[in-house]
Amino acid sequence: KEQRARQRLPVVPLGIERDEFLKALSELKETLGNEHVEINDKPLQDGWYMEHPNTHDMMTILDDEEFVASAVVYPSTTEEVQEIVRWANKYLIPIFPISMGRNLGYGGAAPRVRGSVTIDLGKRMNKILNINAEDYTCLVEPGVSFYALYNALEERGLRDHMWIDTPDLGGGSIIGNTVDRGVGYTPYGDHWACHSGLEVVLPTGEVIRTGMGALPGNNTWQSFPYGFGPYSDGIFSQSNFGIVTKMGMTLMPNPGGYESFMYTFQKEEDLAPLIDIIRPLRISNILENVAQLRHVTQAIAASGLPRTKFYSGTGRIPSDVIHAAAAETPVGDYTWAYYGMSYGPAHIRSHKLALIDAEFHKIPGCRKIDPSTLPADEYFWSRDRIAAGIPDIHELRWVNWAPNGAHIAFSPVSPIRGADATQLFELGKAVQDKYGIDFFPAFCVGLREMHLIVEIVFNRDDPEEKQRALRCLREMVDLAAAKGYGEYRTHLVLMDQVAGTYKWNDGALGKFNERLKDALDPNGILAPGRCGIWGKRYRGFGWEL
Ligand code: FAD
Repeated sequence: KEQRARQRLPVVPLGIERDEFLKALSELKETLGNEHVEINDKPLQDGWYMEHPNTHDMMTILDDEEFVASAVVYPSTTEEVQEIVRWANKYLIPIFPISMGRNLGYGGAAPRVRGSVTIDLGKRMNKILNINAEDYTCLVEPGVSFYALYNALEERGLRDHMWIDTPDLGGGSIIGNTVDRGVGYTPYGDHWACHSGLEVVLPTGEVIRTGMGALPGNNTWQSFPYGFGPYSDGIFSQSNFGIVTKMGMTLMPNPGGYESFMYTFQKEEDLAPLIDIIRPLRISNILENVAQLRHVTQAIAASGLPRTKFYSGTGRIPSDVIHAAAAETPVGDYTWAYYGMSYGPAHIRSHKLALIDAEFHKIPGCRKIDPSTLPADEYFWSRDRIAAGIPDIHELRWVNWAPNGAHIAFSPVSPIRGADATQLFELGKAVQDKYGIDFFPAFCVGLREMHLIVEIVFNRDDPEEKQRALRCLREMVDLAAAKGYGEYRTHLVLMDQVAGTYKWNDGALGKFNERLKDALDPNGILAPGRCGIWGKRYRGFGWEL
């Protein structure tokens, strides 16, 4: 790998000569400043989560050089983003926006088309433009991370007044995570549903504000997301129709108290009855947050210890090995763990917790874990912080399961029903067994649906292991789609396949997306291929994977 890195030549986008590309970059340097345009001619370094690269995916499932940027540019204002977009249209150069590029498991900072120029928005556009403590809203730029917003609330003495919602890892961008429709774990966990108002640079260089932001002098851009007329925000999430330069986000009032709880269940077969118990509790908001029902294998991996510490054989790690390891932990042995949180003052919590306790105990063998018996580094406390809107990075630990650990996910959506949960669980388990991959299922329960997130951890320096993981994932996606289950989000490498599964009525939705793409981005320069959407300049040339 080192040798290959030393020999590395900068990639040039397809369709432009090297000299012309370098000339075009020089022109961009005049607009942005020399130091804000970097050609990607250095050895590719993967770094780690907090010092991640912006040139490629640090957890790549392909070869490092497949999805790689030719250059990275750093705008500081919306106007500079507009200049970059106009420049890309002039030279027909593909550009790929990232906010912070920590989209690990989904492609990291990598562009879908090799040789794209990455627009790293977050490095210089990282201001919290407003925090409104009366309306519980904020307005942020792409480089504002969950940690940064949390710290700002602390610094301004507002943390007791209002909370943020964070995904499992707090180092990502609020805008990047939200436009990819990421999730967190307080009652404000559906980030897209909680945003209000966007500023977007279109692929032809114009800038728009959505919702109330289109009305000059308004003071409701962050409070009323819809404005008047078609609600256009949706087309700027999981797409390649615009570059978001500002976004409004709603914040949660401090609920006046909170209490995490953890229940364990003994058998795999407990899954179906448990999910059926969870559904009415969740829909009626007795279970208040996007909670997680996790399999014990992932909890063992969350210790941060490598797989080899437990087992040196090949194939899926045997159940008895996992259960023996679990029995040694302070939680004890189990198969499923439910991590939840109850919000509000003690007298309000106690009613909800009593209901939950009575319902969960209908499953024989159910145990409520007493948090006071758990040491400070037990995974439970990470879930506790996250469900209280406190950013964390403990979750990274299970990635150490494999040497040079990386991961990619199978994430189908289903109703909160036992039969669906079982069907997806069995499907995932059978396919992963076939490919000899350890099985990490976790059900993230939204309000009326759940995402099953199955993380596949692989060694990013082992080409055979990577190929096996990818083949396994592709098979799971197709089998699930054949049963009517679609992915809520996916990695760059799977976007064509997943988009292809949403094919009702001869692929009418995909065709609609292409029409929008061609109308908004006639030269097809913006993030070609992202979410399976290709402009006409790319279609029919075999770019799809
Ligand atoms: P970016 O990487 O900046 O953006 C994501 C993508 O959105 C980009 O690739 C780009 O295509 C597009 N985009 C970004 N900014 C813009 C813009 N301004 N305009 C237009 N398009 C844009 N994710 C969750 O949601 N929930 C979790 O609980 C979670 N847990 C994780 C646990 C682990 C161990 C790991 C490794 C990852 C996890 N992730 C999770 C995935 C990921 O870390 C987060 O979603 C992260 O917030 C995404 O990175 P980012 O915010 O820096 O977004």
